[in-house]
Order: sequence, then structure tokens, then C-alpha cells
Amino acid sequence: MIYDTIIIGAGPAGLTAAIYTLRAGLSTLIMEDPSVMSQAGYAAIIENFPGFPEGINGIGLVSNFKKQVNSLGGTIVSVRVKVVSICDEQGKGLWQVSSDKGEYKTVSVIVASGATAKRLGVKGELEFSGKGVSYCAVCDGIFFKDKNIAIVGGGDSALEEALFLIRFAKKVTIIHRRDRLRAVKLLQDRVFSDKKIEVAWNSVVDEIWGKDKVEKIRIKDTRSGFLAEIECEGVFVSIGKMPNTGFLKNVLDIDENGYIITDKSLKTSACGVFACGDCRDTLFRQIVTACGDGALSAESCIRYIDSMKGV
Ligand code: NAP
Repeated sequence: MIYDTIIIGAGPAGLTAAIYTLRAGLSTLIMEDPSVMSQAGYAAIIENFPGFPEGINGIGLVSNFKKQVNSLGGTIVSVRVKVVSICDEQGKGLWQVSSDKGEYKTVSVIVASGATAKRLGVKGELEFSGKGVSYCAVCDGIFFKDKNIAIVGGGDSALEEALFLIRFAKKVTIIHRRDRLRAVKLLQDRVFSDKKIEVAWNSVVDEIWGKDKVEKIRIKDTRSGFLAEIECEGVFVSIGKMPNTGFLKNVLDIDENGYIITDKSLKTSACGVFACGDCRDTLFRQIVTACGDGALSAESCIRYIDSMKGV
């Protein structure tokens, strides 16, 4: 089978793209990597997605997107994409998507592969991963009831996680490398008004210690170099993301940080390949902008397929 389009990624961007391509009658296959959860899925509560005045949790929102895709007859397969390559045997300009479960042929590709949490790269991080070190507060927060927790990062994600974890934890310490947070003011106000949340300013984690699981961390003052210890059972790392674009090497233009370069209609430098959401070079990464990206990339893809079919 040759698909009109294969969408790589089943987060808000990819699923929105699928809603549009399916409604336009394109044969569409959606690929979801079983080892990568959409960033949206990590959000305990999303309060800035229009239409949900009470907020909605990330897993619930993504599951609604999937229901909508399924109701349009869309198929989501669970595969890990290894390589995307041009497959021009019959001069038709087709693409081949190679995965751990086989090869798929398609006229176009919409890349919506998102991004994955960055690692700190300090001693003890790898060793205690899953033993106190976590990258997902929503997934692991419940294991830290009445415990002391450290969160590294000063962006929206770190503060949202702090506010989520404090429901369970005894105390949360945010460890931030500067003297000012990056997160929006609303989240900062909430954090500063919670007496159980503290901020260790101008500090970075130097080492994570413990026997079988995390017991304490050592932090370093970025100005004085002064070292201090914090006793905690959990360390949540929330320092930003890296794009999941390794399978596109030498296929299209990617910037120095690995993000896909697109034009204003979300075409990439490779003919027939479009990109949307967190994996592309963009200024603002939100669920609502990922959905907008998904719709735009699908529209560009639909026009491309029409031109290929001479419509
Ligand atoms: P982010 O905005 O890039 O923030 C990363 C934070 O980690 C920054 O405070 C940064 O410090 C710090 N950091 C980076 N590398 C570090 C390192 N090696 N060691 C210590 N600290 C480090 O990432 P994010 O919070 O994951 O957010 C990503 C995007 O998603 C943003 O656009 C954000 O607005 C969006 N988002 C939106 C919502 C929402 O609207 N509900 C929720 C979550 C995320 P500096 O500040 O010093 O650079």
C-alpha cells in the first residue's frame, strides 16, 4: 500500500494534522512511538487550551484527540521510526519510512515527532533514574507522598510540576540556575504564595547521592561556587526538551539544535515532507500552537497531494 501521507507522532500536532488529512480524504497512517509519551501527556492540568474553562489533564486531552482520529477512520500504529528516506524507484518521488516493524511507502510525510526531556548530565542522575530521579511529575509524583522533593528548572514546566507535586509532597525546593524564573507570572505568583515551596536561586545540581535510591543532592552556587546539601527523596528534572529528529539525518534541513527548519506553510527543505509542533524551529511551543501547526501542515500536505494527483 502507498499512503497519501504518513504522520510521524501522535501528540496534539500529529493528531490535529490527521483530523484534517482524514477529513480531506487522504489515506493517512499515524505512527506513535511506544517509548515516547507526548509532552502534553505530562501535564497534570492544562488551563490555557480554549474550551476547557475548568482545565483538562494532558492524558485526557490527547485521548480525546485520538478518539476523534479513530472516529474518522484513522489508524494509529505503534512503531518506532528508524529512518525516513527517498524512494524514487519508479520516478514517483515516494518516501519510505523504515521502522522497527517494517517499511511503509507514502507520497508525503508530516513530521510531528515532538521533543524529549533533556538530561542534567550530573553524577548520580543515570544511576538513580527511576529510583528517585524522574522526568515526569504526573507519572511519578504519587510515589513521593510526604517526602521532600527537588525540582530543577525555572520554566513553565518546572513550576507547573512544583505546583502539582506539592499536593503530595512535604516540601518542594525549586533549584534554578539564575536569580529570575523564566515561567509566566501567573505560575510564579502561585509558587511564591505556597509556603511549602522554596526556591534555591543561582544554584545548579552538582551530584545526586543515595544508597539504593535518592537520599540527597549537592547544589552549587553559580556565583560563589559554595556547595550545599539538600535532603530529598525525589529529584524531578525539568530543564527543557530536545527535538526527536534523529531519524531525519541528511534528509532535510535541521538547525544546530536539531529542530526542523520550515517555511511559513510548514514545508521542509525536502519536497513532500512537512513538519509541525515541538520538533520544528518555532518561537512558541504550546499545545494550542502545536494544534495550529498540525492543521497548517495538513493543509499544505493536502495541496501537495492534490498537485501530485493533478487535481
Ligand atoms: P524552558 O522554557 O526551556 O525552561 C527550561 C528551564 O530549565 C529554564 O528555566 C532554564 O534556565 C533551565 N535549564 C535549562 N538547561 C539547564 C541546565 N542544564 N541546568 C539547569 N537548568 C537548566 O522549558 P519548559 O519549561 O520545559 O517549557 C518548554 C516550552 O513549553 C516553553 O515554551 C513553555 O512556555 C511551554 N510550556 C507551556 C505550558 C503551558 O502553557 N501550560 C506548560 C509547560 C511548558 P534559564 O531560565 O536560565 O534558561
